[in-house]
Amino acid sequence: MPSVYIKTYGCQMNERDSEAVAAQLVAKGYTLAPSETVADVILLNTCSVRDLAEQKALRKMENLAAEIRRDRPEVVLGFMGCMAQSRGQELIDRLPDVDLVLGTQKFHRAADCLDEILAGRRDKIVDVAEEPGSEATIREHLLYGNAAKNGAVDGAGHGPPRQVSAYVSIMQGCNQYCTFCIVPYTRGAERSRNIPDIVAECRQLVAQSVKEITLLGQIVTSYGKRGLGETAVEGGASVLASRLVSSLALPNDTGAHGGTRPALQKSPFVQLLDAVHEIEGLERIRFTSPHPKGYGDDLIAAYARLPKLVESAHLPVQSGSNRVLKLMHRGYTRERYLGIVEKLRRARPGIGITTDIIVGFPGETEDDFEQTLALAREVQFDNAYIFKYSPRRDTPAADLPDQVPQKIREERNQRLLEVINEIGKRKYSALVGRRIEILVEGPSKKNPARMTGRTRCKKIVVFDGSERHRGHSLDVKITRAGSFTLYGDPVILA
Ligand code: SAM
Repeated sequence: MPSVYIKTYGCQMNERDSEAVAAQLVAKGYTLAPSETVADVILLNTCSVRDLAEQKALRKMENLAAEIRRDRPEVVLGFMGCMAQSRGQELIDRLPDVDLVLGTQKFHRAADCLDEILAGRRDKIVDVAEEPGSEATIREHLLYGNAAKNGAVDGAGHGPPRQVSAYVSIMQGCNQYCTFCIVPYTRGAERSRNIPDIVAECRQLVAQSVKEITLLGQIVTSYGKRGLGETAVEGGASVLASRLVSSLALPNDTGAHGGTRPALQKSPFVQLLDAVHEIEGLERIRFTSPHPKGYGDDLIAAYARLPKLVESAHLPVQSGSNRVLKLMHRGYTRERYLGIVEKLRRARPGIGITTDIIVGFPGETEDDFEQTLALAREVQFDNAYIFKYSPRRDTPAADLPDQVPQKIREERNQRLLEVINEIGKRKYSALVGRRIEILVEGPSKKNPARMTGRTRCKKIVVFDGSERHRGHSLDVKITRAGSFTLYGDPVILA
């Protein structure tokens, strides 16, 4: 059977989609190639969020066509994901060596398409159509972690099943239409899987050694708001999700400090958290990406109520200026955002808060930007992903007046980075000498002789350990802080 190499650009959702495609291909007998130079099929899973990501994938494919295809003309080349969805046939017109273009609702068709191409039944395939129910197709996992990436998994998918942390896709698409964002156009409208199917997938992962699950979606806090997918039940009938959600709603809510308080209306997302929390053997639950406006009191209460829900929140703010937030169509103000942060910190003292910020959005003035700097200092983020605004085609912001010159975008990016780094340095240094629980994930990427784990707040800790620590929660004493990395010793050895 042929071997396949998948290169992924962009976010965790793309990583998860690639994993599902790889698992699907392994199940069909493909092997995972350790590098593109020896693969029979090379797939680039693309990102469109910023122009840079698109350009990188295009350049990569140009190089593959020029170098790999020249020596091995039988190699199959394909684009998948967001850029494949938004550009479709245009990609083959521009790069005629490309054989396959597979959109974001078609990942599950990868094996069939490759079969057709490899068998010579079809020359080129472009499939970017919408497909109802596709949100439920990202469900297969490769629990071999780096072993799979390094090619240490055979055609039957055998390898060391040692993955500690797994992503579970709970929904696809986005209905928020932030004016800067291409995602609603590349991922389609919001579609949510149903709770029983998600829980079944999580249970299976836990049965296979996974201790931590991250629930994934473009805006997870909108989960189920537009109904849920159908689920098969015994007897072959289907149950509509809206019914499942209401049946899960509890009449009363028992607070973290005991006692019963009046019923808290639980959003479908919080109902899903409750259901996943029930899984025995699961130790930690994370989710990404939420939207600040999805942080209702039910979700804040969930942080106080559900011990497996880790004290970590990624809360994309994008800007500290109300004027810019409005232009971005974010749906909250700076004050509301700060209110959510305060409530979260009250519900879970010590919670780690990270964010996304865009600098140089059209019309952003020096004063607007300084409000962002001030907000970063006020919140004291544990970390932030900073993005220089990138105009995306078909998005309203691309046509707004007063586009900020590249030089200013870069300069603001640098200034904000300095503030985030300074806060990070202070926060990480303050942990030196402290004893903290980590979940050990495996060898450190930078130095495989050492092991890494994450704190519940998601901070990386590197320590001297061995494979026997993998998958265990253990306490480490922090001895040193580096740049957004902690170093420590297991307490038992200290
Ligand atoms: N759930 C997130 C939210 O609340 O907005 C959306 C995740 S989005 C795919 C990831 C991040 O990419 C966004 O939070 C934003 O900071 C950044 N981003 C999206 N479009 C961008 C653009 N046109 N230019 C620069 N950064 C962008």
